[in-house]
Amino acid sequence: MPTHTYRASAFLEAARRQGIEVVTGTDRRQALADQAPGTTLAADFRDPEAATQTIVVFARARPLAAIIPTDDDTVTVAAMASAALSLPGNSVESALATLDKRKMREMLRSAGVLSPEFQSFSVDDDPVSLSSRIRYPCVIKPTCLSASRGVIRADDPERFVQAFRRVTAILRMPDVAERGREETRWVLVESFVPGREVALEGLIDRGHLRALSLFDKPDPLDGPFFEETIYLTPSRLPESVQQKIVQCASRGAAALGLTTGAVHAELRVNEAGPWLIEMASRSIGGLCSRALRFEPEASLEELILRQAVGRETDSFRREKPAAGVMMIPIPRAGILEEVRGLEQARAIAGVEDVVISIPPGQQVVPLPEGKRYLGFIFARASHPADVEAALREAHRRLELVFGAPAEGSSAVSWG
Ligand code: ADP
Repeated sequence: MPTHTYRASAFLEAARRQGIEVVTGTDRRQALADQAPGTTLAADFRDPEAATQTIVVFARARPLAAIIPTDDDTVTVAAMASAALSLPGNSVESALATLDKRKMREMLRSAGVLSPEFQSFSVDDDPVSLSSRIRYPCVIKPTCLSASRGVIRADDPERFVQAFRRVTAILRMPDVAERGREETRWVLVESFVPGREVALEGLIDRGHLRALSLFDKPDPLDGPFFEETIYLTPSRLPESVQQKIVQCASRGAAALGLTTGAVHAELRVNEAGPWLIEMASRSIGGLCSRALRFEPEASLEELILRQAVGRETDSFRREKPAAGVMMIPIPRAGILEEVRGLEQARAIAGVEDVVISIPPGQQVVPLPEGKRYLGFIFARASHPADVEAALREAHRRLELVFGAPAEGSSAVSWG
């Protein structure tokens, strides 16, 4: 797991509950490494070959049963190291395809999986001359980022030019540029696919994808930016549509060559059926997995760990109640000084928790440039509609206080 992961405590708690010993591999040496030898491992994920070698050497002294990537940043190393140690895992090629949106589109197209039309351009291309060759509306995006960072819709040539320049500026931001030249050289331009969006959380075992949960996204995601907000499960779409969504995701996973472990996919549904927008070979990001619970009592991460060490997972089902999470929208850029109304939000019937994940005093950045979640609201109720209402009501109770040194403080509330 990268040191900036949101996923550490969920996986470590799952391992504790399942009685599975864990070695935490991170990209920086951990402060407590000497206190508990053999439980941590530092490797440079930006150099997957070297990181693989580090893991292989480590595993000689302390054999590993499985290597699980928690985030996109560790998907490549996990695949390479699993292959080197002959452990079950996705092939390196398929792992790389989930990290490169251009490669993914090519593989989906070759396999006939419904997915947006696309063209790719160099960051050095002149958007003004490209703009007359594009069909609108389109979506412009980097090939190598996640969490909707740098994903922008454009409906006409003028907005295309602006969006293209904005995407290339994001690709030049220091934290992105350090990923390497090849990855940050390309801009993907896709046809905009209208429709309702869903997210599928699944587990692949020997090439067979099992849907663990399908989330509806009740807020329209029509752009120009695509900020994720509410996820609700179970889906309220008709059963027949849900089946088609799962089939589409299964065909997508097969097209990408994914055979093992967690997948998280985004799909859009319209008259033509389900379209695969994106598939990641890891579990859901942020703290969102807290919305999922399985019976007999287990978390998503427990199922992932169980599968990885060869224990059965088929008997687990998502619990009966409806559940949901809201990724708290970021209304503007600025220093977040305080979030007021937390207790009032937590007191709403059905709300289980409200977590702010950006510490006070830190900068928040909205999409398309931003990359951190502001926080999460979790709710459970008998029906998805009640979960949705609880999430919206809790959100209305929150008041974000931004520090703006030049003009004094300003607050944004939804009351
Ligand atoms: P990321 O991996 O950064 O999340 P995606 O390609 O999944 O990037 O895009 C993020 C979101 O943007 C999607 O969940 C969807 O809402 C929207 N989006 C992306 N591409 C398209 C498209 N071609 N048509 C319609 N919406 C899109």
